[in-house]
Amino acid sequence: MAVTGLPPYDDSNIFARILRGEIPAKKVAEDEYAVAFHDIAPQTPVHVLVIPKGSWVSAADFHAEATPEQIAGFWRLVTSVAKSLGLEEGGYRVLSNMGVDGGQEVPHFHVHIFGGRRLGRMVPAAA
Ligand code: AMP
Repeated sequence: MAVTGLPPYDDSNIFARILRGEIPAKKVAEDEYAVAFHDIAPQTPVHVLVIPKGSWVSAADFHAEATPEQIAGFWRLVTSVAKSLGLEEGGYRVLSNMGVDGGQEVPHFHVHIFGGRRLGRMVPAAA
């Protein structure tokens, strides 16, 4: 379910379909808690998404409702994937968009891992 600001979880979303194996994804890693795969429209040389195995719309839902084991398992996969992709030395950015102001397009909680170049400002300067 969605904690606030967003509609309830809809399991027809594209990431739910990837979890069910209905559409392909270029997977980087998978365990009992989460799946990591390359973003279909990469914005940096390395751009990977990590999604938890479950039905959470956003960061708010996930951290309010998932078990401590699910939360820890998810974040361990995030950092182990970044390491396996060679990003630890140069550094990387982990980002999660939530809701309309956050620019969230897919209503299944996910984080982006960006790396492979200097990433610059965290958000664009205000227009
Ligand atoms: P967000 O704005 O945080 O919801 O980002 C959603 C991300 O999902 C975007 O960066 C899209 O390029 C990416 N995306 C959408 N569909 C797919 C797909 N089928 N496989 C991989 N990445 C996708």
